[in-house]
Amino acid sequence: MAKKQFKAESKRLLDLMINSIYTHQEIFLREIISNASDAIDKLAYQALTDEKVGLNRSDFAIQLKVDEPSRTLTVSDNGIGMDKDEMENNLGTICKSGSLQFKKDMEKQDDIDIIGQFGVGFYSAFMVAGTVTVISRKYGSDEAWKWTSSGADGYTMEPAERESAGTDVIMTLKADTEDEQYSRFLKTWELQKLVKKYSDYIRYPIKLEMEKSRMKEETKDSDKPEYETYTENETLNSMVPLWQRAKKDITPEEYNNFYKEKFFDFEDPIATIHVSVEGAVTYKALLYIPARAPYDFYTKDFKKGLQLYSSGVMIMENCEELLPDCFRFVRGVVDSQDLSLNISREMLQHDRQLKFIAGNLEKKIKAELAKLMEQDREKYEKFYTAFGMQIKYGVLNDYGAKKELLQDLLLYWSHKQNKLVSFKEYVDAMPEEQKYIYFASGENRQRLAQLPQLEKLGEKGFDVLLMTDEVDSFVPQTLGKYAEKDFRSVTQEDLGLSTDEEKKEAAEQAEKSKATLEFVKTTLGDDVKEVRLSENLGTHPVCMVPEEGMTFEMEKYFKRLNPEMGMKAGRILELNPNHRLFGLLQVAVAQDEEKAKKIAKILYAQALLMADLPLENPGEYTDLVCELVQ
Ligand code: ADP
Repeated sequence: MAKKQFKAESKRLLDLMINSIYTHQEIFLREIISNASDAIDKLAYQALTDEKVGLNRSDFAIQLKVDEPSRTLTVSDNGIGMDKDEMENNLGTICKSGSLQFKKDMEKQDDIDIIGQFGVGFYSAFMVAGTVTVISRKYGSDEAWKWTSSGADGYTMEPAERESAGTDVIMTLKADTEDEQYSRFLKTWELQKLVKKYSDYIRYPIKLEMEKSRMKEETKDSDKPEYETYTENETLNSMVPLWQRAKKDITPEEYNNFYKEKFFDFEDPIATIHVSVEGAVTYKALLYIPARAPYDFYTKDFKKGLQLYSSGVMIMENCEELLPDCFRFVRGVVDSQDLSLNISREMLQHDRQLKFIAGNLEKKIKAELAKLMEQDREKYEKFYTAFGMQIKYGVLNDYGAKKELLQDLLLYWSHKQNKLVSFKEYVDAMPEEQKYIYFASGENRQRLAQLPQLEKLGEKGFDVLLMTDEVDSFVPQTLGKYAEKDFRSVTQEDLGLSTDEEKKEAAEQAEKSKATLEFVKTTLGDDVKEVRLSENLGTHPVCMVPEEGMTFEMEKYFKRLNPEMGMKAGRILELNPNHRLFGLLQVAVAQDEEKAKKIAKILYAQALLMADLPLENPGEYTDLVCELVQ
């Protein structure tokens, strides 16, 4: 029979498996059983609406069989099965979910031990078996096919017989070596142990014919009772899914292992939320917050959602309605007996019970995150690095519909305390006379720390939150207030720092400087909206601030979105009346207009540079500086 070749990348993975670089080879059993369980899930789901399936939930099972003389271990299921094409496509290529993800991560990580923590899939059978044979019959078809492969050199296909729908995976175990006793996978006690360890929660019975011994009935009353052996097809797993068990009986390790196996992660989750609710709607949920964002998290490809079960039957792989967008990073399962089994996607959207569960879960997730922030800041910051951006977008989305829920989960860099703080922590630490929550937004912390306004605020003992993500400039605007306190950008004109007396003085000074300010405005023309004095500049001569309504960060953001749009924040040039340069300017305005124009232009350019805005004419600026220095 002609051998067919594996696709190139499948071959690479196979080589990896066959050469057994991986030490926990025993996980192959978990993988094969998990495939069998998935296949049964599919047929069980179909059975809900298709009477022809003719199987009840209790008829489904996964059967293990060992045959020592031929060194074979067989895993059979009465699930959906595969037709010829599916066998070739699914078993002949690894371009399938779990395996592909595995391959991608493999390329990133040198640490080979990571493999064992993934769903490595069907191919893991080759870690322990020299030859793998798969006989499968698809539900609804009357033909069966046999797929056989002894490894990287390819596989064969031939017609076969199978009584009903389902699949047998027959693994001929490799000969024992010094390092690995493959024969152990033929021992019932070993299989029993492995099923308990890795597949206990599988919701269908995993059966194995066990040899047992019992006293012969007829010799029971004699002095010398005789024993006989008999076989019993025993169910090895408890079949109780983890989320159905009592919290107190579950170890952290069990929670974490379940997460890693089910959601293909190699890192423990940051937090686990296990809820059991009885009442108007009864349900159980087991939710996880991952430690890091999946590679496609911030792309359109990422699908949010929780697995939805109804009385132990999976009815939806990814139920989006259960999670709000702001918590789309959460993985997990929800199981409720109150949901109708053959509920359609359209019905789900309007399902009251589902909405109720979703509302509850939202609160639980928020509470868990808030607890983490308070009790384990290091972990929370790790979470925030991975998903903080999602929380910020969550605040902004739908015109701030979720701001109440999310505002206390935000962290920003405190200039004064030199660490990340929440709004609550910021407000709690405010001196009594401080009226506003001050923030500065820009590209990075180092740059923001140089803003002239920070100096003046610092002198008063007022802290400033440094916001460096693009979305940040929209956050204060969306929140409006926090704890009754208004937000103030440090670039705003009135920072609330002056006393009435100082304000009066400032007004007088502005009046006196009127001619100079008007001169600068005329010189700069439409490049600036306004030229005014500022009391917030400390030792700096000038600064550029945006007109109210839009910040420079927003301008940059919109420009990146659509350069054609031409959204621009109005520029206001502020001059420091207490700086020596302002005096020079005033003198020049009175005595030498040409010189005064040059100073005005230089001050304008410097203000742009300080605000990290592009100079329209850098050549002119350099020439002017050179001229003055000479
Ligand atoms: P994954 O399970 O991550 O998709 P696998 O390599 O384990 O990757 O399996 C590849 C595919 O082969 C599965 O997605 C499924 O379609 C099919 N398959 C494997 N085992 C069975 C089985 N026992 N019954 C039906 N289909 C199966």
